[in-house]
Amino acid sequence: MIVLMSEQIDSQTYVEVAIIGAGPAGAAAAIHAARAGFDTLLIDSATFPREKTCGDGLTPRAMHQLDELGLKVNASYRNRGLKLHGYGGDITAPWPKTYPSQVGTALPRYRFDALLVDAAVDAGATLITGTPATDPMLEGNRVTSFRVGEATVHATWVIVADGVRSTFGKKLGRTWHREEVYGIAARSYASSTHADEPWMHSHVELKDEDGEVQPGYGWIFPLGLELGQVNIGLGALSTAQRPAKINTKKLLEFYAAQQRPEWGLGGIEHVTSALLPMGGAVSNVAGANWMLIGDAAACINPLNGEGID
Ligand SMILES: Cc1cc2nc3c(=O)[nH]c(=O)nc-3n(C[C@H](O)[C@H](O)[C@H](O)COP(=O)(O)OP(=O)(O)OC[C@H]3O[C@@H](n4cnc5c(N)ncnc54)[C@H](O)[C@@H]3O)c2cc1C
Repeated sequence: MIVLMSEQIDSQTYVEVAIIGAGPAGAAAAIHAARAGFDTLLIDSATFPREKTCGDGLTPRAMHQLDELGLKVNASYRNRGLKLHGYGGDITAPWPKTYPSQVGTALPRYRFDALLVDAAVDAGATLITGTPATDPMLEGNRVTSFRVGEATVHATWVIVADGVRSTFGKKLGRTWHREEVYGIAARSYASSTHADEPWMHSHVELKDEDGEVQPGYGWIFPLGLELGQVNIGLGALSTAQRPAKINTKKLLEFYAAQQRPEWGLGGIEHVTSALLPMGGAVSNVAGANWMLIGDAAACINPLNGEGID
């Protein structure tokens, strides 16, 4: 893989498609653009592999997109659907027959995102990592250039995939309306004697230590025998008017303790939390030659928090 530092590109660089952010949204866009024959530049402020707080769950919708890209991930582990628990009942919901392969999986984003970025480079995109894209210049509603380190990039099309906080998108007028519902969530990893369990599990009756039901759910997403772990996390819904008053990390410890015997869980590790802007809760997502995609555009399913697909 060829990865450039910002000082290795020309001080005035011209490309057809510039993509800012190389998470699943940006990397997938880069693969499609490069395969379609566009001169494509993919930029990320981080260096890969890098962590991203996530449940790591890939439903058949995401698997279908990966099939379209010709990518196979975590090939030794597949799941069949979702098991929901709570309020005195359990429901088994096999994946629907919408897509040819009715399977899902899960893979830590540390691995998954690096794999997509590699595929973008293999497809012919030029990748710059370790430096953010900044200072967009606008003429009317058209981005004429922006900076990457000391270089100025001129692009016919600009795709902004810079994630939940979208610092670049904000400069273009992206506004997140926090009076709309958004998610707050924490995740961690734990070893498990059931890492090959072929179902994802959700606990929809999420109680705190005082027995109060919280407005969210917990999840356990097995990662397969090769990794020997599960992704365990929980999320709650919040709005500016009704902020969810939960300490996600503390509640996650409690949730993991409850699930420990059944799942043979080890201690939870790498606990991180993040926000999920959901279901189009941002505005100003496109201009004359630019568009926001992925979390930058709040393209997260408000029902289940799924954003990778
Ligand atoms: C706790 C939690 C659990 C979740 N669980 C799931 C799940 O199980 N399944 C699922 O499908 N979705 C899940 N989601 C949602 C999912 O994580 C996101 O929808 C997804 O990561 C969005 O991808 P993205 O490419 O838009 O953004 P990101 O993956 O955040 O990538 C954005 C990239 O932009 C880069 N960047 C930022 N600013 C700049 C800049 N100025 N210049 C250059 N680069 C920049 C960052 O370094 C980053 O690499 C979860 C989210 C959370 C918080």
